[in-house]
Amino acid sequence: MSGIYVHIPFCKSKCIYCDFYSIAVSSLIDDYCNALKKEIASRSNQLTDKQIQTIYFGGGTPSMLAIPCIESILAEIYRNYNIADNAEITLEANPENLNTDYLSALKRIGINRLSIGIQSFDDATLKFLKRRHTAKDAIESVLAAQKYGFDNISIDLIYGITGIDNRMWEKQLDTAFSLPISHLSCYCLGIEDNTLLHRYTDEGKYIPTDDESCLQQFLAFDSKVRENGYEHYEISNASKPDMRSRHNSSYWNRTEYLGFGPGAHSYYNGIRAWNIANVKEYVKGISEGNTCLTTETLSETDIFEETIMLGLRTSEGINLREIEQRFGNEKLTEIRAAISNLQPDLYMFDGNRFSLTPKGMFVSDSIIVEFIE
Ligand code: SF4
Repeated sequence: MSGIYVHIPFCKSKCIYCDFYSIAVSSLIDDYCNALKKEIASRSNQLTDKQIQTIYFGGGTPSMLAIPCIESILAEIYRNYNIADNAEITLEANPENLNTDYLSALKRIGINRLSIGIQSFDDATLKFLKRRHTAKDAIESVLAAQKYGFDNISIDLIYGITGIDNRMWEKQLDTAFSLPISHLSCYCLGIEDNTLLHRYTDEGKYIPTDDESCLQQFLAFDSKVRENGYEHYEISNASKPDMRSRHNSSYWNRTEYLGFGPGAHSYYNGIRAWNIANVKEYVKGISEGNTCLTTETLSETDIFEETIMLGLRTSEGINLREIEQRFGNEKLTEIRAAISNLQPDLYMFDGNRFSLTPKGMFVSDSIIVEFIE
């Protein structure tokens, strides 16, 4: 199983919390799509014998692209790679772009999964975050997507926002589960460098939510997920049974994938690779026939650390027998020692499989450090 990621680095405007690489210069879109198709064709030798099971358009805002552009990128992928008949093909979209014509066209060209960036069902919060939609737009976009035949719809929400108390957050989760969604991603609001939110925080205009409230909201996410018959299968992700994101799961399983576009990462043949994170330089480089990739061959230590870091994000956790077979008895002994130092309410361990409880997931960064140092 392998996947393809296509990065669309354009947004109409910048949300105050976002540090993803994206720009607001839509005049570059045509040149960008041409460069993207060139890169897609030029790297077809990198996963030659693999069947592609997932294609993911992420961003930025992929739903800013006109349908013929998305269609031509997909055609280039199909021309150059072996795509499974039942491939999961996801497009990240913002509610304001999902009008009825656009939705029916997305369906027609083969997009079969939507990941809608809702972030909040509270209008004041959406305005504060500088999102371009309202709560009503968000709800209507999900209902319209269902009407136009999408039965695999994911939405994103953000918790830990000052001004949204635990009761208001639970109400937002109830709204989410009242909608025809198969998948829900919830992220804690981070104060990232070089964002407007960081500036507001420095200037005292925004006081970040305390850790205890963030933990309570994360635990509410976990409880509501279970109450509604969904599975909390990764720190930030929950789905109906059998409706996990196949694409994102392949990252956590360390499956091979190719990423196209500026800043996109790839993993194939034991190599991690990433493209230059600048649209203009990317377009220039690709148009001149150059590669924009930097590559790095993973060491055994890198592979061990990735296996632990990614495994502990998921509800399956890590399998100690497999760790011993792959990395030897010494690593197994180190892991057992790290487990013995942990608080019992942070993990589950049956002697072989080790995974984190919801409370453990919330502090997974500090647990992972114990395992890989
Ligand atoms: S739309 Fe998404 S990618 Fe674009 S600025 Fe907002 S959060 Fe970032």
